[in-house]
Amino acid sequence: MIQLQQIHKYFGEHHVLKGIDLTVGKGEVVAILGPSGSGKSTLLRSVNFLERPSSGVITINGRRVEAASATKEDILALRTSTAMVFQQYHLFKNLRVLQNVMIGLTTVKKMTSAKARELSAALLEKVGLKERMNHYPSQLSGGQQQRVGIARALALNPEVLLFDEPTSSLDPELVDEVLAVIKQVASEGNTMLIVTHELNFAREVADRIVFMEDGAIVEEGTAEQMFTNPRAERTKQFLSKAI
Ligand code: ADP
Ligand code: MG
Repeated sequence: MIQLQQIHKYFGEHHVLKGIDLTVGKGEVVAILGPSGSGKSTLLRSVNFLERPSSGVITINGRRVEAASATKEDILALRTSTAMVFQQYHLFKNLRVLQNVMIGLTTVKKMTSAKARELSAALLEKVGLKERMNHYPSQLSGGQQQRVGIARALALNPEVLLFDEPTSSLDPELVDEVLAVIKQVASEGNTMLIVTHELNFAREVADRIVFMEDGAIVEEGTAEQMFTNPRAERTKQFLSKAI
């Protein structure tokens, strides 16, 4: 479903991604772990060209886009085949919860208002927010706002879901309700790339774990293999913080 080949990213002189190769199968859940500043967000944002890679090739569901020659249509195709859940929820503060989920459907997907409303309400029910549909984001807890963010991403029915530290802004007591929703989404056959610092969550939810450091993939393997028998010393140190 996703193939990244030799992705490099420079910010000026700063070489932030140093030739990333990664393949993610349909329905596979891959967690990306690694210290702060290792390039995890930049990698995730490269998948949908929120950051344009300096070089490399991105293929999503058979559509191949070269960083060097990507057209507007290529980028639009990458954007519409992916949806991202951000650390900061990025909800529209002046729109009610239901409208926040609907807006991508009526604008991007050109769905009728009635259909968009029906689908959005169903997704809000799924993430446990049926009772909050007519609230404004400011009237919700952080965990509830992030669940709106997840419903909004699901509404677009993307081929690939990208999560960038979806629980890092939350108070500790709100983390579990969001992780539970992500786990449910993962169990439904969605293809997902998740950047997270929640090691135990990654271990439970991910089919495969990728450990990044300094712009490169140090090691990847199944959750079991990475947590019980990491090959690289750096991976071992990093993962030893998990229970
Ligand atoms: P992570 O998500 O693993 O913490 P990031 O991908 O956010 O890492 O950042 C990797 C490196 O790239 C960091 O050194 C960061 O300062 C730098 N960086 C990220 N975004 C930008 C940007 N827009 N401009 C310049 N440097 C950036
Ligand atoms: Mg980051």
